[in-house]
Amino acid sequence: MDASLVQILNAPASFNNGIGVISDPAMSDPGATFRPVLSLVRESPETRYYSAMLSRGCPKSCSFCSVRLGFPFHRKALLSDIDALFKPLEGSPKRVHVNFEDDNLALDFDYLERTIDILDFYTGGNFGISMENGLDFTALDREKLSFLKSRNITQLNISFVSSNTSVLAENKRRYSPEDFSMVARAASSLSIPVTAYLIAGLPDEKFQSIDKGLEFLAGLPVLIGISPFYAVPHSSGFADESMFDRISPNFCKGTSFYPWNECTTDELIRVFIKARALNVERRVASERHGQVSLEFT
Ligand code: SF4
Repeated sequence: MDASLVQILNAPASFNNGIGVISDPAMSDPGATFRPVLSLVRESPETRYYSAMLSRGCPKSCSFCSVRLGFPFHRKALLSDIDALFKPLEGSPKRVHVNFEDDNLALDFDYLERTIDILDFYTGGNFGISMENGLDFTALDREKLSFLKSRNITQLNISFVSSNTSVLAENKRRYSPEDFSMVARAASSLSIPVTAYLIAGLPDEKFQSIDKGLEFLAGLPVLIGISPFYAVPHSSGFADESMFDRISPNFCKGTSFYPWNECTTDELIRVFIKARALNVERRVASERHGQVSLEFT
């Protein structure tokens, strides 16, 4: 039976407590394309800000990531559907800014270029772009960053995860901190502000190791974002659903700083506070030197 989320929440017992609920009928079909979404989020006197989703799922399989639980296959929108999506932007009286949300678009850079070309066409070049959660830095290099700069990217949010190579390998992240450093420095040299995300509380990573990651990022021209680790049923290492019956669902979100693994709540909060303090110090220093690469957004 098809039902809206509101109907399910109002009568969960009628839907077997959620078992069998499918949010997207095509999500279990690896051959299906994704129907893209564009929503107006806010508006300033000069700019209309949109959020776009062009794909779901991800071809990678980082152990800590829950994306594959909701979207087991990587599905992208057809370029013809993206064309139809952006067409209504034609003749916009204001500049258009599109943030691509949770789309790992850099993995297929030709697709990303063609997507931006479509946006350029319908906005007459009066556009900006940003990408939240999902841009894989290992797919970027100086040439690609230069392209993104030339196409008005305003902010790069990239996931560093950890400076501990064993933790990275355990989580199927095959790169070194130096690889990350190269991309962050290249972006900064092109005046693209970078926020680098460190995950706090991964399995087998203790406070001292996370702190080393913070110090590593403090040496780069980036703002530091903290993503506290959280588990959901069937996250890697958390297959036992019964433990989730014993805790509040509120703990299954990053802002709870729940001690899922080696770190205590106190340690996780200390990491968060230290990252914020480092950002403020570096913002002050950056303003003093007239740099633009450490802007808060
Ligand atoms: S690259 Fe990002 S979205 Fe893909 S599996 Fe890893 S963390 Fe998840």
